[in-house]
Amino acid sequence: MLDKAPNQKISSLLRSLDQALVSDDVECATNLFQTDCYWRDLVAFTWNIKTMEGRDQVRDMLKARLPDVKPSSWKIADGEDATEANGVLESWIEFETDVARGNGHIRVKNGQIWTLLTTMSELKGHEEPLGFNRPKGVKHGAESKRRSWKENRDEEVAELGYSQQPYCVIIGGGQGGIALGARLRQLNVPTIIIERNERPGDSWRKRYKSLCLHDPVWYDHMPYLPFPKNWPVFSPKDKIGDWLEMYTKVMELNYWSSTICKKASYDDTAQEWVVEAERRGKEILLKPKQLVLATGMSGKPNMPKFKGMDVFEGDQHHSSEHPGPDKYKGKKAVVIGSNNSAHDICAALWEAGADVTMVQRSSTHIVKSDSLMEIGLGDLYSERAVESGMTTAKADMIFASLPYKILHEFQIPVYNAIRDKDAEFYKRLEKAGFMLDYGDDESGLFMKYLRRGSGYYIDVGASDLVADGKIKLKSGVDVKELKRRSLVLTDGTELNADLVVYATGYGSMNGWAAELISKEVADKVGKVWGLGSNTTKDPGPWEGEQRNMWKPTQQKALWFHGGNLHQSRHYSQFLALQIKARMEDVPTPVYGLQDVHHLS
Ligand SMILES: Cc1cc2nc3c(=O)[nH]c(=O)nc-3n(C[C@H](O)[C@H](O)[C@H](O)COP(=O)(O)OP(=O)(O)OC[C@H]3O[C@@H](n4cnc5c(N)ncnc54)[C@H](O)[C@@H]3O)c2cc1C
Repeated sequence: MLDKAPNQKISSLLRSLDQALVSDDVECATNLFQTDCYWRDLVAFTWNIKTMEGRDQVRDMLKARLPDVKPSSWKIADGEDATEANGVLESWIEFETDVARGNGHIRVKNGQIWTLLTTMSELKGHEEPLGFNRPKGVKHGAESKRRSWKENRDEEVAELGYSQQPYCVIIGGGQGGIALGARLRQLNVPTIIIERNERPGDSWRKRYKSLCLHDPVWYDHMPYLPFPKNWPVFSPKDKIGDWLEMYTKVMELNYWSSTICKKASYDDTAQEWVVEAERRGKEILLKPKQLVLATGMSGKPNMPKFKGMDVFEGDQHHSSEHPGPDKYKGKKAVVIGSNNSAHDICAALWEAGADVTMVQRSSTHIVKSDSLMEIGLGDLYSERAVESGMTTAKADMIFASLPYKILHEFQIPVYNAIRDKDAEFYKRLEKAGFMLDYGDDESGLFMKYLRRGSGYYIDVGASDLVADGKIKLKSGVDVKELKRRSLVLTDGTELNADLVVYATGYGSMNGWAAELISKEVADKVGKVWGLGSNTTKDPGPWEGEQRNMWKPTQQKALWFHGGNLHQSRHYSQFLALQIKARMEDVPTPVYGLQDVHHLS
């Protein structure tokens, strides 16, 4: 029988919170939280993405925001029951603010709030036309000069960007731009997505031939339209490309392919952007109120500069330009780097019959895909999770409810378990000379991704080739110089080479702001990505949320969107609501706009 006591305890706490907030009693509300508490807010209270850490920050936020937000109606979410385990009470919750409806999640320890997640789900009066409110698609009856759905759509396509300006322009039509475009479409925000490639999905199609998604299907759904049940667990790159192309069409996105954004500048007087684009060879000016850079965190290649690159007579390119292994059968290939792309490319070259050497300059975190699926993601994103009733929306919210400040504490045991399970595997790799790490504080892959977006390989087979010496390895060295048909390493080794691939990663997204807008705006906005964890490639001070992603920046009306498919799906909801609120003139005072500590 279901234990109703947790429901009573949570309901009573939520009633106390409701009463304190309705009566503007900040002190009383703050005292309902533990001293070491975390309140993560996605837009509902702060018009920002922000975590309040500790009672003082909760108190400050409430003092600043309570008069506007006017929260009310806190309750356990409809159809849900609170649970209690290991001294922690948990529940899904719902609440309202003056302008929005929200939902979230609460964890309670010793009768006080430990973690609280509040998220905006919809703006009152601007709800998405879903379910009972879906469009009818047909108007029964008789109407002279009736226009079909297609005629209306064709007119929109012909006019938007020409006789009618879009409210929002998204530069970059990869999965990020597409997911956000779909959300904005549902919210009726006139939006154009500008994409230099010929077809939606090309940013995946154009990657190296052997690439399959590293994340499993349950983690990768797009908003509104999940993959069917027969979709492969790890989507091959061309298949995900086709899905994105189909999605763009059926979601009726205004997607301008073969269009390059050349320049954008903000007109302070008109309070709008001037975006210079070239569409199929013709110059066009767009004047949106909001501009989103969805140009990809894996879009700006980091190309190293080595002496002799100009004299090397073989093929050399960044991993993003690598065509695949077909023409390198029997050739000597050297791959610089030891993260995901390096491993994928080395394995494909080896399979095609090339002689491959990987040059590892610094240590890499490796986790076997099967172990990551089973131990790292299985409870939230897997067939097992689906069977036990987990939905994508709930999994995203549980993930979001774990505060970044303590997320590593939840992650360390996961990666310790993986280390134990795969001890033999790691031993073999070390024996082959591979330099391994598990993250600065042993917290593994997700923390590395959130902090620096690099430094790991999800093993789908290349590690065995390294351990067995089939992919040759030179570790702890860098490239000293290139000669006509060889590379010289810093330990003096000379490697003959017909091909050199630089799998050396990508630069910060504010490089795009510098390129497309100005260096001044890029510096004003500062580094994009990372938490300020003071670990490798993520310098402090602590920021508490990912820098500049999906939230207001120091440049008015400029937003950054992207990340992996999970982040694109989840955070596009909150970015879309922020943009919609601005379009509808809903006041959006931003609480705690981030300071800039690093330029790039
Ligand atoms: C090898 C590799 C494997 C990966 N595996 C995974 C995975 O398994 N799962 C996952 O979720 N993520 C994975 N990623 C990360 C992946 O890059 C992102 O998830 C995804 O591509 C990000 O989508 P995006 O829309 O933000 O950026 P992109 O897909 O990079 O799209 C950005 C788009 O902007 C366009 N653009 C840039 N500048 C302009 C301009 N001036 N004008 C017009 N258009 C412009 C580009 O043409 C591009 O299409 C992988 C990345 C790499 C490199």
